[in-house]
Order: sequence, then C-alpha cells, then structure tokens
Amino acid sequence: MTQTEAIFFDQPHRRFNLLTNEWIQVSPHRTNRPWQGKTENTSDDNKSHFDPDCYLCPGNPRAGGEVKNPEYASTFVFENDFSALFPGTPEEALSEKELLKAETEKGICRVVCFSPRHDLTLAEMSLEDIRMVVDVWADQYEDLGSKPWINYVQIFENKGEIMGCSNPHPHGQIWAQESIPEEPHKELIQQKRYYEKHGSTLLSDYLSLELDKNVRIVAENDHFVVMVPFWAFWPYETMVVSRRPFARFTDMTDDERDGLADIISRITIRYDNLFEISFPYTAGFHPAPTDGQPHKEWHFHMHFYPPLLRSANVKKFSVGYEMLANAQRDITAEYAAEILKNLSDLHYKKAQVPQG
Ligand SMILES: [Zn+2]
Ligand SMILES: [Zn+2]
Repeated sequence: MTQTEAIFFDQPHRRFNLLTNEWIQVSPHRTNRPWQGKTENTSDDNKSHFDPDCYLCPGNPRAGGEVKNPEYASTFVFENDFSALFPGTPEEALSEKELLKAETEKGICRVVCFSPRHDLTLAEMSLEDIRMVVDVWADQYEDLGSKPWINYVQIFENKGEIMGCSNPHPHGQIWAQESIPEEPHKELIQQKRYYEKHGSTLLSDYLSLELDKNVRIVAENDHFVVMVPFWAFWPYETMVVSRRPFARFTDMTDDERDGLADIISRITIRYDNLFEISFPYTAGFHPAPTDGQPHKEWHFHMHFYPPLLRSANVKKFSVGYEMLANAQRDITAEYAAEILKNLSDLHYKKAQVPQG
C-alpha cells in the first residue's frame, strides 16, 4: 500500500461516482475493525414449494382475485395488477411562471416470475433456470423497447421484506416508460461525456483499471466481472460489468447470456453466504435507452444495492446528515470486496451436511 492509499484506508474522505457525477463521503475509521463474523440465522427457511395463498404461484388467483395464474412451468410474465404507469395516459403538460412544471407519463409495468417454485431465489436456482430468466429479460427489453414511445426499460428485482417486498415468491419487475428516468439519465450524460473525450466506454476503461488493481474484484468469468465499485454507497454494493462493451440486452451473444446467468448466481450465492440468510437487495440492469439512438457510449451493467450493514439485523439507514447533506458510508469498498471475495461459490444450504 502506498502512503496515499494508506490515507484513504483509514481517514475520512470523499469519493467521486463517475457514473452519476456525484460525491460520496466515506468514514472508514468508524468500522475498520476486525470482521465480527455472522450473527444468528433469521427464520427465513422452511418455505414450501407451493403456497396456496401466494398470488404468484402457478394456478393461484392473483391479487384482486379476478385473474388466475396459468400452471406455468418455468418463467411467467404478466401486466402488473397495480401498475404505476399506464399506456393510455393522455398527453398533457403544465407550466406556470417557470415555477410549476409537470408532464404526464405513459408506461407499461410488468411482473416476471423467475420460477414456479415459491421457495427458491436466484441464489438457489440452477444456472439453466437463471439462463431462462436472462432470456425473458432480453425478450422483454426487446418487446417493450421496440414500441416507439418507450424510451427506457428498467428491469429490476426488489428482494426481501426489509426492502418492502411483501411476497417472497422469486420475481422481478419491469417498468418501461416514455422518459429516461433520473439514474440512467445521469449515467447517460456521464458515459457520453467520457466516450466523446476518450473514444472508449467509461466502464471498459474503468473495468481494466479495476482488473489491474484487483482490490475490489469479487468474482469474474469469461464475459462478466462483479466488483464493489470504488464509489459504492451501500455497504455491500456491487456492480456487474460486461467485459465486451455492448449497450443492449439484445446485443448479448448466447455465451454472454450464459455468462450473465453465471455471474448472477455467483454474486447472489455470496450474498446469501455472508450472513447465512436469504440476503435482501434491490438489483437491476442499466442497458442503453431504447430511444432509437446508437448509444455507442453505453456499457451494459447491473447494480446490486443491499441495505444490510454488519449483520443480518443491522440495516443501513439514510437519515440525518445523508438526507440533508451527502451520501455517506462507513466500511470502505475495499473492505467489503475482500469479505465478499472470500465467501464460497457454494450456497450455504447446499454446503450443510445432512444430520443424523
Ligand atoms: Zn408463490
Ligand atoms: Zn448504472
């Protein structure tokens, strides 16, 4: 470690998020102490394959009760019964004295069930089954993105009660809409700026630097790398980046789709192994906007934002200083990467020796 690196290891500092053009404050001295290890298991186990009360299980009535799910055998996509956006919203804008500004927004919201099994998560699904989910995501991106009025397709998963997700059945969501939402929009500006200056994508240059340094890399395969980004905000935040710079879900080769399934499996297993619980997170993809532009600057990637801090029960709260002043974190990205890297690729439930 150089003298400069040593300072950033234990002194309060700010880090710059290249993708969003925002600063994050880091206070490493607050948690630079030996790893305490996992705490007690929480009682998330012992779910059954099928729950008669689950509105996502095959054959069950959906929330609202009018529609029944088909007896699906792998994945299942349907229009969200409680959509936040509708395709038929009339176009209208409001502007008053440059003080009041609003515009209507059209969109389509869908739900993607990852598996008919109520008790599984991506971390426990086979690579073949995760690959089927990858194909569904790609198909949905293509189907929704090809509508001329849809300019962004946000695919995400909200997992765990702590994240406000009420149903444990493995599923994700898709919100496709007219405008490019704030997070991808910030990334669009930053990636464009970088590409115009350097002629290469921001994330391909960043990825080679990270691979070179090898202090924040968590896992990798032939097509994808997962790392704790230098500017991570959430305690165990990670980012999955494709080795080849491409922009869209639909640009992925067959092998890359397998690679994506593999890297998702590796990171979600590590997350579960961290505290030996079904690890909560919000995760999602940032593919290029579907606005008809070439997007040579865009580099396909995925974010995992988990809220847990030092144990299964300690959640990070963004309050006080963070609400009023600046995003802040305690454990450094390097420390989090080291812990995640050293966890097993084998899910803890499968590693347990049967008793008796
Ligand atoms: Zn279910
Ligand atoms: Zn992103």
